[in-house]
Amino acid sequence: MEKICVAVRVRPPVSLETSGGVFWKVEDNRVSLHRQHDTPVSGTSYAFDHVFEETCSNARVYELLTKDIIHAAVEGFNGTVFAYGQTSSGKTFTMNGSADNPGVISLGVKDIFDAIQMMSNREFLVRVSYMEIYNEEINDLLAVENQKLQIHESLEHGVFVAGLREEIVNSAEQVLKLIESGEVNRHFGETNMNVRSSRSHTIFRMVIESKGKDNDSSSTDAIRVSVLNLVDLAGSERIAKTGADGVRLKEGKHINKSLMALGNVINKLSDGVKQRGHIPYRDSKLTRILQPALGGNAKTSIICTIAPEEDHIEETKGTLQFASRAKRITNCVQVNEILTDAALLKRQKLEIEELRRKLQGSHAGVLEQEILKLRNDMLKREKLQLELEEERRSRKERDQCVREQQMRLQNHNSLVTSSGGNGSHSEEQNSKRQSFCEECSDSNGICQGGAFRTPCSKAAPNAFVVKRSNYSRLPEYSPLPDTFSNVADEDTWLKMNKGYIADLDSLQMTPATKVQSFPLNDGTPGCSNENYRDVQKLKRQLENVTEEKNEFQRKYSEEKILNARLTGEISELRQEVLVIREIPRRLYESVVSSKDFYEDLLCSMKSFAADGESSTAKKLVSISEIGSSLFSTLETNFLMAMDGDKSFSNNDSLVREQCKVFCEKLKSTISALILSEKAPIDNKQGKNSPCSCNNKEEESTCWKEKLSSELNTIKEKYHGLEKDLDLNNKFLETSKEMYDSLEREFRLLQEERDSLLNKVSESSQTLTMVTDQKENVLKDYNTEVEKKKNLEEEIKQFSAAFACRQKSLVSFHSDLKSKIEKLRAQNPVSVPKSRG
Ligand code: ADP
Ligand code: MG
Repeated sequence: MEKICVAVRVRPPVSLETSGGVFWKVEDNRVSLHRQHDTPVSGTSYAFDHVFEETCSNARVYELLTKDIIHAAVEGFNGTVFAYGQTSSGKTFTMNGSADNPGVISLGVKDIFDAIQMMSNREFLVRVSYMEIYNEEINDLLAVENQKLQIHESLEHGVFVAGLREEIVNSAEQVLKLIESGEVNRHFGETNMNVRSSRSHTIFRMVIESKGKDNDSSSTDAIRVSVLNLVDLAGSERIAKTGADGVRLKEGKHINKSLMALGNVINKLSDGVKQRGHIPYRDSKLTRILQPALGGNAKTSIICTIAPEEDHIEETKGTLQFASRAKRITNCVQVNEILTDAALLKRQKLEIEELRRKLQGSHAGVLEQEILKLRNDMLKREKLQLELEEERRSRKERDQCVREQQMRLQNHNSLVTSSGGNGSHSEEQNSKRQSFCEECSDSNGICQGGAFRTPCSKAAPNAFVVKRSNYSRLPEYSPLPDTFSNVADEDTWLKMNKGYIADLDSLQMTPATKVQSFPLNDGTPGCSNENYRDVQKLKRQLENVTEEKNEFQRKYSEEKILNARLTGEISELRQEVLVIREIPRRLYESVVSSKDFYEDLLCSMKSFAADGESSTAKKLVSISEIGSSLFSTLETNFLMAMDGDKSFSNNDSLVREQCKVFCEKLKSTISALILSEKAPIDNKQGKNSPCSCNNKEEESTCWKEKLSSELNTIKEKYHGLEKDLDLNNKFLETSKEMYDSLEREFRLLQEERDSLLNKVSESSQTLTMVTDQKENVLKDYNTEVEKKKNLEEEIKQFSAAFACRQKSLVSFHSDLKSKIEKLRAQNPVSVPKSRG
């Protein structure tokens, strides 16, 4: 983890006149606000990695703040340098500089090519691009036709701007010319505060690829790719001060908006790794592009520029507070390498060698090997988890699909059960369909099945009101609302610097889309009960599948927790290994000191035996030999242990036996010495004067005492060593036990995972079956509908024919009637009434 490097640069005052009030004072890496008589204003002192005073040149800023990043970029690390501050505080001056005071960008470009020249063992390919973010749109400054470019993200390239022109370059002059041509296309405008105020954020980007030359034997064929971003931000501004209106006002609002998003990201990141939660990188194009530089894989420097004038004190304080927060951010930086197959093989071979060396270099070699194995297993597990995650995602999509199908089936179901077909019902459906379509078009034409979820967020008591208007299903970024600028007041960016988090997500949420019945076709009754039963069956199956899915999710989170615990235990084991590794060294040290002590003792003993030929002297020589050989054996063994000779672990018993033999020898030599000394003394006792006899006796007793005390010390040391060895062995045993239990747990986990995977595949099979069945049901339903239509058609034809017949019958009837009437009139015979 590496902290972001943050510096503050004070611009020279615009006029030399001083107001006589408060002023900013720079002392070493500290800047603080002082009153007239140099008394500091409390709570306004800030410390940073560097504070550059007014007279400081761009070259010095470059040297102290950015040179390292530039050099690291040549070596394969991502790097980002950006200038932040209010309008006219000197951001563009720092990044671009002037003819006699070249800025960070031109100094950096020159340095990169110098560094490339120096690295004769690598080949380089450098590409540059230059873009601006103007009114939340990305424009290519090297190709005017490339406007409104989109941000994409891929596993291979990370976050990138699609369609951005990249020029391959091979000299600093070529790059500077390109920048010059790009500057022409940049958006500038005049405000009260700066006659040529940058109205856009510009990002100058260099992609440096390198590969070891073929003739370099030490190279691993890996290709390093690093991205260097040099960013000149547009200035945060208070609209009242800049006097912006019309186009300038709109620009200003966009500038403040993206700087607010940047502030949000910085504030969240400065909360520390544990409390971070969701980082809203997607809230602006600026933060999305700078994502790797903020809390990601990049070495990052921020130059915060401030204006020294008294009337800018509030903005300056804001900038300094922003800088203080940025200082707390840590990034995780690593060389970016792309490995070809050959490179991978070479790299793995080197790694194996290294591991082998390490294993040999450790008394706890076996344990180390086991830990490595465990680590490998963990990596595999992580991979599996990723796969599981992927599976989960695709399942979710499938579920969504199934849910939609279910809705459709429900509608069919209602079709089956309802007596259906009347005008008011279809009218209702039509109106529902309409409202559904409206909702869809409200959310940009894409319906978001369930409620739109927002991450939990801190309560913001003074939150200003912003509104998200458009959400898309797979956004390139979380779009800031168009209406934002109407409600975000101009001082909000100042609040942002003070740690205020504008919770764009929680403010006005898009209402959750209601689950809407699927629009009906012209509903008519007539489907069989069989369909209904099928639908119910399908429903039940779906429910089962959903339950299973939830179960998987629960198991997955349990597994995650277990994984974390295993990782913790592994790190504990590692600590223990370190302690165990220390033991041989400590033992070796104590052996060396015992040896010194022993040699001193023997020296002093030899000095007593004046005659080199005496038996005492001879015994001493033999003791000395035994001792030296004992110590050298011990030394070699412990050295072996320290160097990690594997055979050492088998040598424990050997050492102990040797020690025992030496002790025995030492004991017998000492007793022989005592005996041999006793005999002459006894002999002499009769002949010599009592005085000399006493002297010899005292001497001998003195020796004996010394020798036995030395022997005791050696014995104690030996026992101490033995205890240490025992301890060592116990450590090993406990570690082994822990490892065994870890392995057992790991196996269990593996089994669980396998069963989970099995279940996942089973459930997907069921899902396919369910989908097939559903399709069959749909087919049946369609044929039913078709049949019904045919029947209706026939009925219609029949009714028409029937009506026709009826008509002719009626006319025939009336004809008959009139004829009867006529006949009656002609023959006035009484006709029985019933025949009429
Ligand atoms: P910003 O980009 O922050 O809006 P500029 O870099 O355009 O501000 O600076 C505004 C003015 O101040 C420019 O005329 C610039 O030359 C001048 N200026 C800024 N910083 C310095 C400095 N350190 N030394 C000399 N002049 C400076
Ligand atoms: Mg500028």
